[in-house]
Amino acid sequence: MSDTTFVIVGAGLAGAKAAEALRTEGFDGDVVLLGAEPHRPYERPPLSKGYLQGSAERDTVFVHPQGWYAEHRVDLRVDTAVTAIDRGAHEVLTGDGGRLRYDKLLLTTGAAPRRLPVPGADLSGVLYLRSLDDSDRLKAALRPGARVVVIGAGWIGLETAAAARAAGAEVTVLEHAALPLLRVLGPQLARVFADLHTEHGVDLRCGVTVRELRPDPTDHAAVGAVQLADGTELVADVVLVGIGVTPNVDLARSCHLDVDNGILVDRRLVSSDSDILAAGDVANAFHPTLGRQLRVEHWANALHQPAVAAAAMLGRSADYDRLPYFFTDQYDLGMEYTGYTHPDSNDQLVVRGDTATREFIAFWLHDGRVVAGMNVNVWDVTEPIRALIESAEEVDPARLGDLDVPLTDVAVPRTGHAAPPSRSGRA
Ligand code: NAP
Repeated sequence: MSDTTFVIVGAGLAGAKAAEALRTEGFDGDVVLLGAEPHRPYERPPLSKGYLQGSAERDTVFVHPQGWYAEHRVDLRVDTAVTAIDRGAHEVLTGDGGRLRYDKLLLTTGAAPRRLPVPGADLSGVLYLRSLDDSDRLKAALRPGARVVVIGAGWIGLETAAAARAAGAEVTVLEHAALPLLRVLGPQLARVFADLHTEHGVDLRCGVTVRELRPDPTDHAAVGAVQLADGTELVADVVLVGIGVTPNVDLARSCHLDVDNGILVDRRLVSSDSDILAAGDVANAFHPTLGRQLRVEHWANALHQPAVAAAAMLGRSADYDRLPYFFTDQYDLGMEYTGYTHPDSNDQLVVRGDTATREFIAFWLHDGRVVAGMNVNVWDVTEPIRALIESAEEVDPARLGDLDVPLTDVAVPRTGHAAPPSRSGRA
């Protein structure tokens, strides 16, 4: 395969890991990794956590050391935007007019922040958080006493709020739903995050609509306030918008790949063109265990999917069947989430531990089987949670919620009769 060229479009975590996997698997042809940003590939979790808070050094965010790409004959081209894909010619076109032939093409183009659709959103001081440069800009603005208004109480908004409070800023968080993370977690667990932030001095306002961003009276180009639909004005030195992301599908769409909430790929991450694959945030992949198409925007997906994509590029067979996983750190709360529950499902919630002390595991059950688990300030339980989900065994909710019953012993006995609840009485 030494005269073969594999091109990867998108030099984020997924792109870098794909290049690494190709070399680990012994591919000796050309690997070209194209990225629009000026930086070599970096990881995003620190950008809203340790790096933003100043506890992680800049060097730690990069996926590989500077010299790694040359050492592994990966032709990393930064500042190189791909403008089109010519499927007939098997070429990608770059912004500088170049054309690059590929035998296999992997699209790891990621996602872009949704823009706030209100007047004033283009004022300076209105920030988004996606790239390393975004994180640098935000970090510089998080000063003691700065008035920070965060729009959107999702993961970006809440992690930013925690970082801003740590920096001594005054923080208001605005969310249009009734609670932060309501759609993902449901009311009982969303309340845990709401209480966490209010206890740390955040002015959390839910059920509100942002009408307009107003200029600073002394600098008309800069943001000065956020106006809500009810007329309330909140003074702001900086506004951080975290209202979700949309997958970067323009390239795929314009070359007529199948696209629907991301690039549609099969379980091997191959698109509707057998020479083009997709991985990471942009890939809407068939998940064999869950039996459905799923687009996952979390870090673990970008970390693990590329090995499967690389295998497929090399003509080997592998399926991507890992369960979704992500984590967050906010103040003294650490959380991991494993599995998948549809936001509109009526899955049963079972809590093991105490949400008031923020030390618990929450499980979502569908038809009596665990489909997702979230551990909060409880550690080393990801594997048992994963095993419970993957076993697809019916569990006894009372035993699952009982701290005295090991997680390995919560299945309904195969006779079909549920084991009696433990006598401890804790649920
Ligand atoms: P997100 O998690 O989807 O949250 C966006 C939040 O903003 C939602 O609560 C949304 O409510 C709300 N919202 C939408 N429009 C709004 C508006 N006009 N005014 C007020 N609130 C509004 O997205 P994100 O926080 O921007 O994060 C971006 C991506 O990065 C996501 O995929 C996220 O999972 C990922 N990320 C992950 C982590 C982690 O795993 N720890 C950390 C940071 C980022 P509705 O849902 O009701 O629309």
